Amino acid sequence: MNISLFTVPDIPLIHEGDDIAAIVCERFDLQDHDIVVVVSTIVAKAEGRIIELLDVVPSDSALSIAGQNDRDPRLVQMVLDESKEIILKFPFLLVETENGNVCVNAGVDGSNIDGDRIVLLPEDSDQSAKAIREAVFARTARKVSVIVTDTNGRAFRDGQTGVAIGISGITPTRDWRGQCDLFGKMLEVANEAIVDEIAGAANLLFGEGGDGTPVVVVRGLDCYAKHEGLQPIYFPRSEDVIRDAITRASKQETR
Ligand code: GDP
Ligand code: MN
Ligand code: MN
Repeated sequence: MNISLFTVPDIPLIHEGDDIAAIVCERFDLQDHDIVVVVSTIVAKAEGRIIELLDVVPSDSALSIAGQNDRDPRLVQMVLDESKEIILKFPFLLVETENGNVCVNAGVDGSNIDGDRIVLLPEDSDQSAKAIREAVFARTARKVSVIVTDTNGRAFRDGQTGVAIGISGITPTRDWRGQCDLFGKMLEVANEAIVDEIAGAANLLFGEGGDGTPVVVVRGLDCYAKHEGLQPIYFPRSEDVIRDAITRASKQETR
């Protein structure tokens, strides 16, 4: 078995209004069932999801959190604006974004953008992935899967990895439950988060710095499926045990 990953060459700096599907299709000969993996930073740039730091006026709440965490209050304000729920305030802001991803600082990111400007996450990354998939099909008649990624830290482990934050044309997990192991025992919990594994692999080629390689094509892993959206990967609140524990602990602390 083998799979191939390719960076799409010569992608320019992305600006508001740029057509990411067109930029990819002009530079790479996509085949059916390729997986097109795109960093959220360029999706957000194309969608104009950029804020001038100088335009942000921090609220009292942002000022207080910023003081505690030794952060720029304007950045904290942006994070608050992008969050559906705050899970942890100190020593960093761990939040649920409007789309459901739980991450530090709501993905608000000052890197790989010029000046005092900050890139937010795409407004709706599932929708962005779908729009790219459909635009690729309209141009090339190729049926591809699309994954929009961000780099996130993990609980319990140092270091960050690529994770999926929006998907289209692929199911988020590969369910092994009901299948047998080497010795005929039934697998009861194995449900492989393939979109995160693919995002992590693609991130090896994206890099985090000045490489300028924000799109990777994965070939040879046929995961194409008529499925939209990452929602199934997020635990329902009743099953989100760790989150519940963090919320309870941080409530106790502020009491
Ligand atoms: P994130 O993981 O979505 O936060 O994106 P990063 O900021 O880590 O960037 C990942 C990759 O995309 C790096 O190789 C960056 O150099 C590249 N990148 C970011 N913005 C652009 C852009 O506008 N044009 C190009 N060509 N590359 C970009
Ligand atoms: Mn990011
Ligand atoms: Mn990154």
